[in-house]
Amino acid sequence: MMYYKTVQLPFQSCTSSFEDSKVVVFSSPMDSTTSFRPGTRFAGNAIRVDSFGVEWYSPYWDMDLKEHNTCDIGDLDLPIGDVNKSLDIIQKTTQDIIDSNKKVMMVGGEHLVTLGVVRALVNKYSDLHIIHLDAHTDLRDEFFGMKLSHATVLRRCYDMLGDDKIFQFGIRSGDKHEFEWSKGKTHLRKFDLVGLKETIEKLKDKQVYITIDLDVLDPSVFPGTGTPEPGGITYKELLDAILSFGNLNNIVGADIVELSPHYDHSGASTAVAAKTLREMILLLHR
Ligand code: MN
Ligand code: MN
Repeated sequence: MMYYKTVQLPFQSCTSSFEDSKVVVFSSPMDSTTSFRPGTRFAGNAIRVDSFGVEWYSPYWDMDLKEHNTCDIGDLDLPIGDVNKSLDIIQKTTQDIIDSNKKVMMVGGEHLVTLGVVRALVNKYSDLHIIHLDAHTDLRDEFFGMKLSHATVLRRCYDMLGDDKIFQFGIRSGDKHEFEWSKGKTHLRKFDLVGLKETIEKLKDKQVYITIDLDVLDPSVFPGTGTPEPGGITYKELLDAILSFGNLNNIVGADIVELSPHYDHSGASTAVAAKTLREMILLLHR
């Protein structure tokens, strides 16, 4: 493991050694391609600080973080502005984690960071599927002339995975062409999470990666993000979705992305992300 700094303050109770841990948390402080409001590079450490307001015990899972070995390796040392090198570092870090038969739990960063993880996962998992919660399609072929962008990230994943591997929920924003293009290629559910339980049943024994762009939540719940999009899901709906992921038998990793902490001066968005991270870590320990 080469690309991380010493963690001064790990996410609540995630203090086990790398060797002892089943789940490895890291954050990717990258927001180089953010088109509207930057700031997601600060998410990982904002969540770490605020995680001290989060209980170790989850009454939802009836599981306790301190009873499961998790390692938080902190913010990766990414070169600001160098997208390719940053994605390489995220990929190599993920590779190290999965080569050690551990599960990845990444905190973004802008959504493009997911591509680094997925590039590593496809090398190991030949039948990888992705469940994607987001307000946005993220299926553009290019954005401002760039093939690598937060707005193209699921399209780049599609390039590697092909048809019928990506399942999108909560989508309420994108170019008309993206919605048209998705037909027969990805499974795109507009506006809500209807059909998620059926999807989980279908993917029960498949290799699944879960990517949660937190802007899938309504801005009334989660205003601390770069591109807030009204008409989103409630926190209870997100929580129910996370609990239903517990029916998947082969989750290979997950991420939560797009918290931009300083746009929400109440701190509530960071609390939302910290609680979500606790539930996601425990999901990966099941
Ligand atoms: Mn996204
Ligand atoms: Mn989004």
